[in-house]
Amino acid sequence: MNPEQLEPKNLWKNFFALCAIPHPSHHEAALSSWLHQQAKALGLDSRQDIVGNVIVRKPASPGFANRPGIILQAHMDMVPQARSDSGHNFAKDPIQPRLHPDKPEWLMASGTTLGADDGIGVAAMLCFMEDNTLEHGPLEFLFTVNEEDGMTGAMAISSTALHGKYLLNLDWEDMDEFSIGCGGTIRTQAILHLHSLPVEEGWQWFTVRVEGLVGGHSGIDINRGRGHAGNLLCRLLEVAPGDYTIGDMASGDAASAIPREAEARVGVPPFETAAWQQALRLEAQYIAGELDDSDPGFNLVIQPTDAPAQAIDAEESRMFVNLIQSLPNGLLAMETDIANAVRTSSNLGILKLSNEGPGAIFLETLCMVRSSSDIEKEGVANEIDDILFKAGATTKRTVNSPAWTPEPRSALLATASHCYQNIFGKLPVITATHAALECSLFRPVYPHWEMLSIGPTIRNPHSPDEMVSVESVAQFWHFLVALVKEIR
Ligand SMILES: [Zn+2]
Repeated sequence: MNPEQLEPKNLWKNFFALCAIPHPSHHEAALSSWLHQQAKALGLDSRQDIVGNVIVRKPASPGFANRPGIILQAHMDMVPQARSDSGHNFAKDPIQPRLHPDKPEWLMASGTTLGADDGIGVAAMLCFMEDNTLEHGPLEFLFTVNEEDGMTGAMAISSTALHGKYLLNLDWEDMDEFSIGCGGTIRTQAILHLHSLPVEEGWQWFTVRVEGLVGGHSGIDINRGRGHAGNLLCRLLEVAPGDYTIGDMASGDAASAIPREAEARVGVPPFETAAWQQALRLEAQYIAGELDDSDPGFNLVIQPTDAPAQAIDAEESRMFVNLIQSLPNGLLAMETDIANAVRTSSNLGILKLSNEGPGAIFLETLCMVRSSSDIEKEGVANEIDDILFKAGATTKRTVNSPAWTPEPRSALLATASHCYQNIFGKLPVITATHAALECSLFRPVYPHWEMLSIGPTIRNPHSPDEMVSVESVAQFWHFLVALVKEIR
């Protein structure tokens, strides 16, 4: 079978049309204009707001005018990830969907993310806009920009933009589940200027690298016991005997990714290097034992290297590794009333000690705190800010999204569960995620809305291995059509 023959035909036609229009986060202008044009060509009321979100209105179908308004919502942008050998240019190349060579029940892309997250949601909304045979109350379609890198589209929605009562967020990634809540997040950033001195004559310099860790998404994988490369590197240096000086260090490149590698340049006095290396290797054995099952690839590499022009002195080097070790990091609390659900976590996503010319060594940190409790989230973020502030850093918060607290007794959830059972002969799994959804940003602006997050089954999102279950897309469409008809 080739992708053109997939069912439902209209939904896939719309999805393949999206694939041809590049739409990585922060570059949604072309897709935003295309959606706006499509709506106008269908004779629907459409407008683009200042950040590029598109809101379309479609009147109720005959006989459904007294139904409550429903908002269908999906984000336009996708995470641009390509395999290193793909040569893909996200600014201009179309995504090339294909069936998985070994598992043709899955659709994927050729060497890149597919963008089924959230392109299937967008494509389904286009079908609703086009199809005048469907039965529904007044519909609003909310297409947001930049969900994946800060949710700035959702953040820009004003309290007068939408009139509906129920919001269906089409950004969930499992057809067996409904999500009814999500964690709130705070991103907190700090910059600290450290004192630097020219390096001591005769000291020996080493690259110390922690590598081979699994990493993962801090909203989904934080409770899997995986190692954090930057923290482990600092732990190794903390146990090292005697004096040493640090020239630079780097760990991680995104707020929500658990760092898989970390590296530092470290200077050690002559004649002490053997004992120093031995202490690090011994501690690395303990770490390997602790990580055994969750992170079997952990590895420590120590290699001689050239000296940098300057470094932070021995006392401040110790202060620095202690400082990083003292930041709340990783899994902090589990929910007490939902099995195996994380309540609060923090991830030191970026740690960078950079050597930028005479007298200028800067520490830069970016932490992502998540919690289903806004009070706990504030508490952890305050603790991080306090620790860094006392060390002399300037701190700032770039994102602060509230938690979307589950409401297990909502009428929308009851209707959706009933509808799901009628179609599939079983109940959905009701869940709440530790990761963030745009619903959390709508909650304070539209406190009266009932919301639900649903979607087809997607595996490995945000990676070149992203794939979507073809069967689940058909199930998703049939369920969505039935649910929209049922909501009253
Ligand atoms: Zn998404």
